[in-house]
Amino acid sequence: MISDIAIIGAGVAGMSAVQALRSEGYDGRLVLIGEEPQLPYDRTALSKGLLTGEFDEVPLLSPAAWYDEQEVQVVLDRAASRLDLRGREVVLDGDLRIRADRVLLATGAAARRPVVPGADLPGVETLRTAGEAERLRRAWQPGQRLVVVGGGLIGCEIATTAGKAGLEVTILEASDELLQRVLGRRLGGWTRELLQESGVDVRLGTGAAEFIGTDRVTGVLGTDGRLFPADIVIVSIGADPRTELAEQAGLACQRGIVVDDVGTTSSPAVFAVGDAASWPLHAGGRRSLETYLNSQGQAATAAAAMLGNPVPAPQIPLSWTEIAEHHFQMIGDIDGPGEHVLRGALDGGPSLLFRLVDGAVAAAVSVDASRDFAIATRLVGNGTRVDANALADTDLELRQLLRAARTTALAPSA
Ligand code: NAD
Repeated sequence: MISDIAIIGAGVAGMSAVQALRSEGYDGRLVLIGEEPQLPYDRTALSKGLLTGEFDEVPLLSPAAWYDEQEVQVVLDRAASRLDLRGREVVLDGDLRIRADRVLLATGAAARRPVVPGADLPGVETLRTAGEAERLRRAWQPGQRLVVVGGGLIGCEIATTAGKAGLEVTILEASDELLQRVLGRRLGGWTRELLQESGVDVRLGTGAAEFIGTDRVTGVLGTDGRLFPADIVIVSIGADPRTELAEQAGLACQRGIVVDDVGTTSSPAVFAVGDAASWPLHAGGRRSLETYLNSQGQAATAAAAMLGNPVPAPQIPLSWTEIAEHHFQMIGDIDGPGEHVLRGALDGGPSLLFRLVDGAVAAAVSVDASRDFAIATRLVGNGTRVDANALADTDLELRQLLRAARTTALAPSA
C-alpha cells in the first residue's frame, strides 16, 4: 500500500503529476518539492509574454489555493540533495527528511553554458527560470544590442520578442541553419529569412569563441574572428537533463534518467518524467524530449503506473512555438531521412510540412494551420500511409486522407 509520494521538481511535469495522482484517486500523503521560490509556473511564457510585458508576473500553472484543495504539501526554495532508496526517504538541503514509498523525479534540464573565456561575465545570461526572465526584462532597453548565441527555440523566440521591443538583435548559430532540429532545414531557412526581414542579423556557421569585457560583457568574439558588440548576451545552445540525484542514487542514466514506457527508472520505487527523463519513443530509440506537452503526458502515465495501472506510452515529440509572427506546431521529428512534402505555400497562408518514411507519415509541422494540425497528429500517431501527391493537394481535405487510409485498412484483403 502506497501512502507517501514525493515529487521532486515543481515544473509542469511535477505539477501535472500532482493533478494526475489525485484524479487517479490517490489519497495518501503527497509532497511537491521545488528549488525555485515560485509555485509551478508556465515556463513557455518566459521567452514570450513575460518579456513583452503581456504578463506582469510569470503566470502560475495553478493558483496557490489549488494546492490546498489537492492537499499537497508544497516545499519551495529547497533542493533535494539525496535519495535514500533503502531508507525510503528524500533528503533535502538542511537535512530535512521526507518519507516516500514512491519518488517521482521531475527535475528538468539545465541550460548549457559554453566553455569559452568570459562565459561567467555579468550580462552573459541564460533563460530558463522566472528569475532570469525578470532580470532580463528589467535590464533590456530599446536600442540596446543583444547577441543571441544559439539559434534554436529559445534563441529565435527571444530574437522575435527582443526585435519587437526595439533591441538590435544578432543571432550566432553554429550550424548551417536556424531551428534545424525542430523545424527541419526548409522551414528553418524560411523562418530565418523572416527574422532577417524583420531586422535580425543572422550569422550561420558561427559560434562564440570568447565573451569580451572586464566588469561586464561588451561583445562576443565569433568563431569567424569577428567582434559582435553587445549590451546583453543570451546563450541558448541547448539544455542538459538534471540527473544528479538519480546518478547519486545509482539509477541508470544516459543523457537523461533512463525509464521504461511508463516512466519507471531502474528502481521500481522511483519514476522520472519531463526533461530529466530519457523516455522510449514511438518511432524507436529513446531521449529526453524537453517539451511542455510531452511532460504533461509522461506525468499522467507515470502517475497511473505508480498507482498500479501501467499503460505503456512511448512518446511522439509534440510541441509548439511562436517565432516571427507565426504559430508553429510540431509532431514527430521533422528533421530526418525520407521524403518531405509541403502542403500549401509557405508565404501564402497556412501550410504544413510532412515527413514521410516509406509512404507513412512520420512527422508534421504546421505553420498557422492549427485545424489541419489536429488531423496531422492523427496521421502521425497512426503512421498513416498516404500518397505524397494527395497530401500536397490542398483541394483534398486532410480529413479525407485519414478516412481513405482507414477504409483501406478495414477492407478485406483479396
Ligand atoms: P535548442 O536545441 O532548441 O537550440 C540550440 C541551438 O544552438 C541549435 O540550433 C544549435 O545548433 C545551436 N548551438 C549549439 N551549440 C552552439 C554554439 N556553441 N554556438 C552557437 N550555436 C550553438 O535549445 P535551446 O533553444 O537552448 O532550448 C533549450 C531546450 O528548451 C530545448 O530542448 C528546447 O526544445 C526547449 N524549449 C522548447 C521550447 C518550445 O517547445 N517552444 C521553447 C524554448 C525552449
